[in-house]
Amino acid sequence: MNERDSEIISQSLAQHDYIETIEMDSADLIILNTCSIRAKAEQKVMSLLGYLRKNKKRNPSLKICVAGCVAQQLGNSIVERMPHVNLVLGTQHIYALPDILETSVNVSQVYTSLSSDYDIPRFIPKGDEDLQSKSSSIDKNRALSRFVTIMQGCNNYCTYCVVPYTRGREVSRKFNDIIDEIKALVDKGVEEFTLLGQNVNSYGQTNNVREDGTPCSFPQLLRAVAAIQGVIRLRFTTSNPKDLSDDLMRCFRDLENLCPQFHLPVQSGSNNVLKRMNRKYTVEKYKELVAALRGYCPAIAVTTDIIVGFPGETEGDFEKTMDLLETVRFDGSFSFKYSDRPGTASLNLNNKVPEEEKSRRLYRYQERQNEISLENNSRYIGKILKVTVEASEEQTNEEYTYKCRALTNHVVHTLSNAEIFPGQTISVEIQQAGQHSLKGKIVDIPKK
Ligand code: SAH
Ligand code: SF4
Repeated sequence: MNERDSEIISQSLAQHDYIETIEMDSADLIILNTCSIRAKAEQKVMSLLGYLRKNKKRNPSLKICVAGCVAQQLGNSIVERMPHVNLVLGTQHIYALPDILETSVNVSQVYTSLSSDYDIPRFIPKGDEDLQSKSSSIDKNRALSRFVTIMQGCNNYCTYCVVPYTRGREVSRKFNDIIDEIKALVDKGVEEFTLLGQNVNSYGQTNNVREDGTPCSFPQLLRAVAAIQGVIRLRFTTSNPKDLSDDLMRCFRDLENLCPQFHLPVQSGSNNVLKRMNRKYTVEKYKELVAALRGYCPAIAVTTDIIVGFPGETEGDFEKTMDLLETVRFDGSFSFKYSDRPGTASLNLNNKVPEEEKSRRLYRYQERQNEISLENNSRYIGKILKVTVEASEEQTNEEYTYKCRALTNHVVHTLSNAEIFPGQTISVEIQQAGQHSLKGKIVDIPKK
């Protein structure tokens, strides 16, 4: 979500003739787009802002802007602590950045209002802003793969989560704006799309998304996007299991261009903890969902998010998370230590788990997940996978190493002495499996 917001910022500035640079020291405008999902992300922003003091001293006309969730959350207190910051831009104001910059930002300005009537502005990137950019910070493969925001905010109020406070109420983007953006990008040669929202399953549930007022569900949107000629690969993230419908799961059986991967954050394997997290599903329900998904699409790779050490999580609760890992055998997990966030309900819960204990649980979870990932990945050895080239990595003698991505979202490394390009789809026979990636040799480079 933040990555897409950063793109919107750079695309809208490019449309106003700004030129991106990768050398921070030579920039006239520095924008830090921030995340505050865990405390660590917020600390990083503050230390980078401190570091930028000397850039401002060297170049007093430099403008420094803090955008995103930390901006939203801390507002005025950022400029109180860091007076060299010119602009604090909350999550509902990023589209207005070019206009705000037209007005004077010599004195610090703070835009952090969060409206309950917010509508995602119609912004259709032309599709070639990145390519025009003088910088090389943007991967070339981005020309062929893009994120598309379909909703913003969240109404779920999981007790640990800051998102409803930093991104505001859930709002779905207009159906036509999404379709028009995707068609515009297809015309520019983009082949792969990832639809983005905090809980994509509730797309179209909280506001009208169609001009004629008829309802539209996420599976309906997905089918409409999949039907656009030129959409070769389609992915989405994220889904809260509580809203995962059979209709959505059937899309994996029916839509050929929907990639066989599903990120389904479970957070904990203990019903007690899930209840206190306000997740609104049980472990039993979660297992049923995974079984149904695998029924519709046996090749599907299932990944998850885990929080260890939620307040009051006992050793027994944690063992249940380990049991769930054994049963589901996730292809991968993003796992985190619980982090207190301002304004959230869990901040005030007693029985906080000590830091060392959280670290111990996280280590144990990650170790076992790594073993399972390796076992799961080994199943691909000897198989031929269709992969898309993302980047060339290094040259050894006459050969190049390429980083590619499989339909299941696995990273696949391969060597080639033939010329292949980011964006090209090739066939690779898998020879080696690691915990986080696969390795193989090219067996076919189809002609375009
Ligand atoms: N909307 C998504 C999650 C978005 S946040 C969903 O509901 O699944 C991404 C992940 O960050 C969460 O799934 C959770 O695992 C983690 N996270 C969120 N708040 C956290 C906190 N306070 N401490 C630790 N991890 C947290
Ligand atoms: Fe946060 Fe829960 Fe909303 Fe996900 S569904 S963004 S975890 S409140």
